[in-house]
Amino acid sequence: MEEIPLWYWLAVFFALGACVGSFYNVIVYRMPRGISLINPPSHCPLCKKRIPIRYNLPIVGWLWLRGKSACCHQPISVIYPVGEALCGLLGALSLFASVAVVGTAPVTPELFRMPVSDPAVWAGALAMAWLLLGAYPVCAVDCKYKLIPDSISVGGIVAGLLISIIPGGVTPLQSLLGAVVAGGGLYLVGWVATKVLKKEAMGFGDVKLLAGYGALMGVTGAVETLIVAALLGILVMVPYSKLHKSEDGSGQIPFGPFLAVAAPFMFLWGDALFALYVKFVFGE
Ligand SMILES: [Zn+2]
Repeated sequence: MEEIPLWYWLAVFFALGACVGSFYNVIVYRMPRGISLINPPSHCPLCKKRIPIRYNLPIVGWLWLRGKSACCHQPISVIYPVGEALCGLLGALSLFASVAVVGTAPVTPELFRMPVSDPAVWAGALAMAWLLLGAYPVCAVDCKYKLIPDSISVGGIVAGLLISIIPGGVTPLQSLLGAVVAGGGLYLVGWVATKVLKKEAMGFGDVKLLAGYGALMGVTGAVETLIVAALLGILVMVPYSKLHKSEDGSGQIPFGPFLAVAAPFMFLWGDALFALYVKFVFGE
């Protein structure tokens, strides 16, 4: 572990991200068709033959077969390997961002040959991977179905608590407090807003998602995420609602994507941004 250089770990994170992307491809294909995710095992949608595992490898399988299925030689959309490659890049980016920002390592060619020894960097890389790779399903599912998958929101609470065991990052107590205070606080805000506005103001999905971010980032990170997401939301929603007038709220924009986009940025630069804000307001 001690001697393995960064470039190698970047390749590992890329491969893991591509596997997550491959799993997303399965979900995107199977969920709307009501097919179980595990059973039947991977099969050709055209001729129903089983797909051998070597052709199921992310990106590589598609290149190997030059974009055609092995069984019946039908074209396979380039969307699939592109999605896998993008998720791979997000995986590698998680580690790289953590090395550069959490580990504050200067970005030089030498850096790629150095081992990654700081446990805080590993904790940061895992949290970033969860935030970045989770952002895609939150955005896609919340926009299409107006809900946030529990696997990402509640899963984020579990992931945050597990990652907090690694020393150097968010401590287990900060993680637990983050989940309870961020989730509980947003629930309270939503409850008050619902009473005042006399209509559903905040989905419980958003509450669980922010609780997950609290577990991954601690209370301050989650609060910073909420503030930036709300500002982004206002920036987008005001012009949008002027263009699409609807009284019943059918044109309502979901809030989850704003939280999901803000979270990785606040994880890396929330404290710096907050310090800048304090300096700007108080001139210290
Ligand atoms: Zn086939």
